[in-house]
Amino acid sequence: MSLRNLPSIEQLLQQAQASIRAYGRPLVTQALRESLETIRADVRAGAEVPSNEQLLALAASRLAGWTHPTLEPVINATGVIIHTNLGRAPLSTSAIEAIQAVSAGYSSLEFDLNTGKRGSRLIHAEAVLQRLTGAEAAVVVNNNAAAILLTLSALANHKRAIIARGQMIEIGGSFRIPDVMKQSGAKLVEVGSTNKTHLRDYEEALSTISNSKPVVVRAHRSNFKIIGFTEEPSLKEICDLAHAHNAIVIDDLGSGTFFNVEKYGLTHEPTILESLAAGADVVTFSGDKLLGGPQAGIIIGKKTLLDKIKKHPLARAVRADKTCLAGISATLLHYLKDEAEREIPIWRMIAQTAESLKARAASWQQETGSGAVVPAESTVGGGSLPGENLPTFVLSLNIPKPDKFLAKLRQQSPAIIARTENDRVLFDPRTVLPEQDAVLVETLRQLLYSSQK
Ligand SMILES: *Cc1c(COP(=O)(O)O)cnc(C)c1O
Repeated sequence: MSLRNLPSIEQLLQQAQASIRAYGRPLVTQALRESLETIRADVRAGAEVPSNEQLLALAASRLAGWTHPTLEPVINATGVIIHTNLGRAPLSTSAIEAIQAVSAGYSSLEFDLNTGKRGSRLIHAEAVLQRLTGAEAAVVVNNNAAAILLTLSALANHKRAIIARGQMIEIGGSFRIPDVMKQSGAKLVEVGSTNKTHLRDYEEALSTISNSKPVVVRAHRSNFKIIGFTEEPSLKEICDLAHAHNAIVIDDLGSGTFFNVEKYGLTHEPTILESLAAGADVVTFSGDKLLGGPQAGIIIGKKTLLDKIKKHPLARAVRADKTCLAGISATLLHYLKDEAEREIPIWRMIAQTAESLKARAASWQQETGSGAVVPAESTVGGGSLPGENLPTFVLSLNIPKPDKFLAKLRQQSPAIIARTENDRVLFDPRTVLPEQDAVLVETLRQLLYSSQK
């Protein structure tokens, strides 16, 4: 009986002009239809017939939900600089501009502007990588996992690939070095023990391999440490030995850095130049860890080997797109122009002094009128420098239900990601971009004010 009082879709559409302009007629029709179905069920169950306005509001909230992106910007107040779950490295202004410039229109991606003929996408980052590293050749692919898979597929397929047991690591997301080595068609030869590998372990393996050009893989342990009774030959020792046996050395640096991180009080992280100087034939690293660029995998090394890598069928499957090439090239240029610490956000974050962080945390405290400024620790993250922390100062809030407050922070727009420690909610200024300070403070003020009421 009362179901007949419900308006028709056509009637509702007449009143939904604003929604139609925002979302398009087909989607609004679908939202109204679904809302009406819900209401019909409710009315049959005894609920009152809602007004048209209530129906339209119901449809509007559906539309907002359907069109809200799941991938959205957040404020990282965790103090973890290269936060894989939060998208790793924020980009420099030049990198963002370069990406925008090539995405908005056409580009010389595979077009040689000198000859007017077909060109190669492989050249775009290669020259700057050669100049920066002195490597004979370079190629940029989708990510470092792809770089390793491609390199091994091109150089180690059907061959013996030697790796120390202490380096048979899992990086995260089930990416395990030994699995990838097998996937590439390499025949794994494990040497050493979990905590100790001697040069003679490599030597024994190499001298029993008779086929041409075996491969020695060195993987940076990235996200964990082996401490105590441990031993590992240096990369130079491994390279000298491998070359004497006509073997190729592939060094997976993981993060890869051009800078010595010791100057920031961190323990030494192997640099890209050190790997090449030690004699590694091919070196791979990520674009979005300590390099501070977009997601990419970078392969540098000997030209003869890089030629094989570039020609391998998998190269096409894992190739970098124009936005990646534009962003990586712009990021690499910062290093070439000796301005990386100034221009690349992750290096600015790493370089921030405890005093300047203290001042920012204090201004947050003042402007929100809450919490305390306390010393804490930021981390580099991204599988680089495990257990390595940078001294910082955080705004620490003493909130009755910290987990509930964290959840509320995540529902804001932009969402704010913080961490808790000993039942306090901590906000680390190190990873909050300076231009986000105002919105962070304003959001905190509102949340703290409404939680007091
Ligand atoms: C992070 C890492 C990888 C994977 O790199 P992605 O760019 O995330 O694909 C591979 N090897 C090591 C040692 C790493 O630390």
